[in-house]
Amino acid sequence: MQAVRFVGVGHQARIEDVPKPSPGPGQVVVKIGGAGVCHSDLHVMEEDLGFKPPFTLGHENAGWVAERGQGVAGFKEGDAVAIYGPWGCGWCHACQLSMENYCENWAEMGGFGGGLGFDGGMAEYMLVPSARLLVPLDDLSPAKAAPLSDAALTPYHAIKRALPHLHADSTVVVLGVGGLGHMAVQLLRVLAPVRIVAADVDDGKLQQAKALGADDVVNNRNADAAAEQIRKIAGPRGAGLVLDCVGVQPTIDLGAKLLGRNSVWTIVGLGGGHHDFHHGSTPYGTSMSIPYWGSRVELLEVIAMARDGRIEVETTDFPLGEAADVYRKLKAGQIPGRAVLVPAAS
Ligand SMILES: [Zn+2]
Ligand SMILES: [Zn+2]
Repeated sequence: MQAVRFVGVGHQARIEDVPKPSPGPGQVVVKIGGAGVCHSDLHVMEEDLGFKPPFTLGHENAGWVAERGQGVAGFKEGDAVAIYGPWGCGWCHACQLSMENYCENWAEMGGFGGGLGFDGGMAEYMLVPSARLLVPLDDLSPAKAAPLSDAALTPYHAIKRALPHLHADSTVVVLGVGGLGHMAVQLLRVLAPVRIVAADVDDGKLQQAKALGADDVVNNRNADAAAEQIRKIAGPRGAGLVLDCVGVQPTIDLGAKLLGRNSVWTIVGLGGGHHDFHHGSTPYGTSMSIPYWGSRVELLEVIAMARDGRIEVETTDFPLGEAADVYRKLKAGQIPGRAVLVPAAS
């Protein structure tokens, strides 16, 4: 079968022919309906994050149960499912809470999940090591739902953690309206009665943010002007939450200027920007965190919201064979919402 492979740092993704997987006991093979194309794949290919090549990319996956290994219960062939991305050991304290994203045994796992160390979903079929990692989609289309498993789950987890700090008069600033950011705006609209300010360097994406529920949009190409504009909107208390979906130096520097006292600064973008966190550099009471992905239960919640039509990923489908070109477009900032690779019908 055709698969999009990570072949080493510094190399583009390569289309290769690989054997179709078959499930061992407890495992499930999913026929892929769609795999989201995420910025973190670019980091995997461009920086040494410790992943050993080769493996199939794609960590936002959904499809239909194709084959069940011995002892798999609760699913039948043809069921539409999303695949939970961060694979933990399944039995530690964090995993028992369904927070496999914070598995205590992650260092021994050999990878973070399918598409991040293990074979992912940019292929016709994907092997899932346990049925516990599947979430039923019911009537949601897998190609439409695949990005929910990261582009929606990651900001959902980040926002939920910040909710106790948000009030009806809080301002939340979303930096970057890409795959994660355009979901963050929608999730905030559902979860909190806050004023949402979205910032991006692309006016088209700002229009999209406005249509999705942002109260104010600000172009941050000129960072100083953007900081002034956002501070004026937020008022003297500053932003109650800055959710940085980019994480590059310019957005980190901008975020630092927007926070009020006792606020929350959450960085989910992997841009590699730094902040010198010390007495005097950050307002009193501010907590800074870099959460990772989300829990299995949170994925159930995200999928329930999507099934109710309360959130929707803006997706564009591309054939699997166009992966290299799609990554180029993603890097150039030319993909609105989320690109999804769809294998040829077979
Ligand atoms: Zn991702
Ligand atoms: Zn674990």
